[in-house]
Order: sequence, then C-alpha cells, then structure tokens
Amino acid sequence: MTIPPLTELLLDRQPADYPLQGYRRAQLLDWVFDKGQLDVNAMSNLPLEARRELHDGFTLNPFAATQAHESRDGSTKFLFTLRDGLQTEAVLMPYANRVTICVSTMVGCPAGCAFCATGALGFGRNLTPGEIIAQVLVASAHANLAPKAIRNLVFMGMGEPLLNYANTLAAARILLNEQGLGFSSRRVTLSTVGLPAQIERLADEDITVKLAISLHAPDEETRRSIIPTAHAHSIDSIIAAAKTYQQRSGRRVTFEYAMLGGINDHDWQADLLAELLRGLIAHVNLIPLNDWPGSVFTPSSEARLRTFAQLLDQNGVPVSIRRSRGRDAGAACGQLALQGAALSTPHLSTPA
Ligand code: SAH
Ligand code: SF4
Repeated sequence: MTIPPLTELLLDRQPADYPLQGYRRAQLLDWVFDKGQLDVNAMSNLPLEARRELHDGFTLNPFAATQAHESRDGSTKFLFTLRDGLQTEAVLMPYANRVTICVSTMVGCPAGCAFCATGALGFGRNLTPGEIIAQVLVASAHANLAPKAIRNLVFMGMGEPLLNYANTLAAARILLNEQGLGFSSRRVTLSTVGLPAQIERLADEDITVKLAISLHAPDEETRRSIIPTAHAHSIDSIIAAAKTYQQRSGRRVTFEYAMLGGINDHDWQADLLAELLRGLIAHVNLIPLNDWPGSVFTPSSEARLRTFAQLLDQNGVPVSIRRSRGRDAGAACGQLALQGAALSTPHLSTPA
C-alpha cells in the first residue's frame, strides 16, 4: 500500500483505504500537530497493527538528519538533510513573548539576486509540502516546544515561494488549518522577489497570508542590476499586483528593502519609493544588509539608514528597520547558504 507522507495528511488526496479514518485519524493528527510526535511507535493510543502499517508506509520525518547551530542571540539555525541527500535550512527565533520560525521552500534558489547567499548557490529543487511543514515540527521538537508554541512563521528562508507555488500553498493550508498547526493568518508571512502573475493568483485563493515584497529599489535600473527577475517584471507591474493583493485581502502589504551602500540608499531613491507607494496601504521594512563570504556589497552606514527611514517617514510612508537575528551563525536574512556548498543547476536569469 502506498500512503502519502504524514504531513500531507490534511490534503485532499487521501485514499479511501487509508489505514486511519475517523477518530483514529484525529488521534494521529493530534500526535503530530499538537504533540509534535514523529515516531509512530510512540503513539501509544493507536492500535499496534495501525502503528506497524503507518511505520512501514509513511514518511514521518522527511529528514535523514538534522543539525542545529545556535547563535549568541538565542536563535537556532537548522540544517536539514533530505532523503535524497540535498539540504535545506530553517531558523527558529525565540523572542520574549513569541517564537518565530523562518522556513525554506526550496533547496537553493533559481532567482540569483546579487546580494543573497542563497541566490549564489543556484537551484537544487522545490521542497514538498511535507518537507516545508516538517521544518516546523522538527525544529520545535528540538527546542522542546510543542509545535503550536511557534506562533509566527515567515517564508523567508531558502527559495522563492511563488516559484514553488502549489507546494507553498499546500503547506500554508496545513499551517492555517485548525486540525493542522492552527496558525493565525495574520502571523504567516510570505516573502516574494515580486512575481506579479503569482501575486494576483495568490489574491484569488481562499486563504490569506501576509504578503511581503522584496522591492529593494524604486527605479528599474538599480533593481535590474541586483535582481535578475526584474528584467522580466517591471516595478509598475509589481505595484499593481500589490494593490490587487492589498484590496482583496484587506491587509497592508510590506515592502522589503535591503540597504546596499551606494546602490539603493540615496535620498532621491527614498523620495521615489514614497511616490511609488502613494495610494497603497503599505509598510516599508528596511533591512540592514547581512554579510556573507563572497558578497560584493557593503551595508549602508547607520546614519544613511536612519536618514533614508526619516525621508520615508516624512513622506507619510510607515517604515521600520528589521534587525536580523542569528547573524553570527549565518542564519540571518539572505545568509542561508548550506555552509558554502554549491548546487549544480545554474541560475535562471529570467524565470517565467
Ligand atoms: N525569495 C524570497 C524570500 C526569501 S529571502 C524573497 O526574495 O523575498 C528573504 C528576504 O531576505 C528577502 O527580502 C531578501 O531580499 C532578503 N535578503 C536576501 N539577501 C539578503 C542579505 N544579504 N541581507 C539582507 N537581506 C537579504
Ligand atoms: Fe531567491 Fe529571495 Fe535570495 Fe532572491 S533574495 S535569490 S528570490 S531567496
């Protein structure tokens, strides 16, 4: 018998001869999503026969190995080795009153943004919904937390979620499902390099997540010099898609902006950005650039960062500065790079 992987239990693809139906299935869901138990043999209230069947047919834990690297600020980077030997990463960030996890949707990334360590790796493959969800389950078990103690999730690890659209959406459904991880849709954020057609498609889905768009420059020339997909998708088309998303979801859209010294941090770019966002219920997140071996960019100075923020603020744009966690463990935004490995597939310069 072929049984779908455990974390795909909540998808609509279960065969009618699924070994656990009705309350048995509810028990299984409870073990996995409430207790974070991935060892079938430890599911003591399931009949032995069902446990044996599950054990033989299920991929309970899609990772062959998990390594954890703690950083000084209390965040932990997880390196997961998948069953095919490829690797991906997640970061768990405990704050005083909440725990946030940053998950990956791919091994590497095909988008090849110039300032991003994941982009420099190239593309390995898409992650399955199970491989995305298991990052939450395995990281929480490692931290001795119930999975539901993690209340915030960002799709900001390796990969471009909207280029792995179906699997990311399937994972988001499990995250938001009451029988799954029961996340509030206000606490799940999808970050994208800015793919207008996929953003519009997302706006039509029956679930809503918070949307963050990696804009990083208000003018085409600068944006194209650092983000290869910018050649295929204009800033105007991205803003139009953001507007659609904002209107349909009723949610404020975040624009991410990594501050690259001398590249995108000029006064005129702050003014142009404010002009671009006029009429949109938006928020700008300035990200101090995180360094990685091989990076050719320098972070903007603290003074530049503040002036840029002030200019936006004076122009009526809500702005905040995002200080990344886990920098010393290579776990901050854009630093996920499998400890310097290289994947074989070359970058896509203009993904469709
Ligand atoms: N692919 C998606 C999500 C993963 S990247 C995206 O691009 O949005 C998450 C965020 O980190 C993005 O805003 C990305 O632009 C940013 N980022 C990438 N490299 C960075 C770096 N070196 N320093 C700071 N932020 C970086
Ligand atoms: Fe991919 Fe995002 Fe990195 Fe660009 S910034 S290469 S889209 S992970």
